[in-house]
Amino acid sequence: MRVDVLIVGQGLAGSLLARRLAGRASLAVVDPGEGNATRVAAGLVTPLTGRRFTLTPEYPSLLARAGKTLGALGVFRPCDVYRMFADAGQRAAGMRRADCRSCAPFVRRLTSGPGELDAELDDPHGGALMRGAWADLPRLLDETAAWLGERLIRDRVAAGEISEDGDGVSWKGLRAKSVVWCDGWRASLPGGLFDGLAWQPAKGEALDLVSDAPLQDRILNREGWALCLGGGRWRTGTNWAWDDLGESPTAAQGDKLLRRFAGYFRRPVSAEVTRHLAGTRPCTRDSRPFIGRHPARTRHWLLNGLGPRGTVWAPSAVDWLAAALLEGAPIPAAYSLAREPATRT
Ligand SMILES: Cc1cc2nc3c(=O)[nH]c(=O)nc-3n(C[C@H](O)[C@H](O)[C@H](O)COP(=O)(O)OP(=O)(O)OC[C@H]3O[C@@H](n4cnc5c(N)ncnc54)[C@H](O)[C@@H]3O)c2cc1C
Repeated sequence: MRVDVLIVGQGLAGSLLARRLAGRASLAVVDPGEGNATRVAAGLVTPLTGRRFTLTPEYPSLLARAGKTLGALGVFRPCDVYRMFADAGQRAAGMRRADCRSCAPFVRRLTSGPGELDAELDDPHGGALMRGAWADLPRLLDETAAWLGERLIRDRVAAGEISEDGDGVSWKGLRAKSVVWCDGWRASLPGGLFDGLAWQPAKGEALDLVSDAPLQDRILNREGWALCLGGGRWRTGTNWAWDDLGESPTAAQGDKLLRRFAGYFRRPVSAEVTRHLAGTRPCTRDSRPFIGRHPARTRHWLLNGLGPRGTVWAPSAVDWLAAALLEGAPIPAAYSLAREPATRT
């Protein structure tokens, strides 16, 4: 088989890249199909994040691109996010940020006391109702796999198995002009072509639940999140762990997530766990993606480092990578592999 582009990994990055290259380059995608961050993520798109309610400077343009790309694929769901303040300090920080000019357009309403937005929620410090969205990422993966058909190869690529000559690369009888590594957090493991970059992978867990909790048409957010999927189905997460990476869920985190979910509501709620998932976010030290070509092995490209907010970053990152790969366009310096601190110190 001969193709223009071999994509390693069919998570969010690999799926969107494959869709983006359609009609412009022939391709094959390799993925073992054994779980990834994309399947665990709730795909939330939240403007103000973290304890300090940070607004990424690029957020408005990233959001516009994400809405367009994911909307065209039928997986983008605009909806409000209710960020319940955890304590008085967080409330003060949230109020300050909501007032700032760049953040204000994303804040729909501030509440000052419990039950003001919804009498069923346990929000003693009030909260901020923000314009957000979520993306149905499992659906994106499934539909992309079906669309790829035989171009999706169920296997795992080791960097050492790829040989290179003047015309391109070869892997198990497949010839490609270029290979794009969309392999998520595994790119940070020793022995990979890009393992010297400044990675900071972080594991997280999530639960799929059936619950009699009051239905919500907004995402609930406090030290984690709960997304109501309708019909009593919920997905709730998450946590951060840096020393136990991979895709294995732990009982301890499962219990914590259940307790946190119950804490969002004023009355006791039932919660039957239907699935417990874990994945590892491909985070980078400066919270920016890695996009670009290997400096020495120039047939090899990287599209990775989407971190905890892949839904926001991936559509734009894919555009930049595709323009560089197909047209030789420059990668914005802030995301290039040559930036500081792109490499480990
Ligand atoms: C618990 C949790 C919650 C999250 N919540 C959100 C959220 O609400 N909103 C948001 O925007 N983001 C969220 N994220 C982050 C988001 O999941 C990631 O940014 C994004 O999914 C990363 O996509 P990716 O394609 O780079 O990696 P992945 O989805 O991990 O995909 C990488 C793929 O590469 C394959 N692969 C790896 N090595 C090889 C190889 N050698 N050969 C072949 N295939 C290989 C893997 O099998 C995998 O399928 C969350 C992540 C986690 C873990």
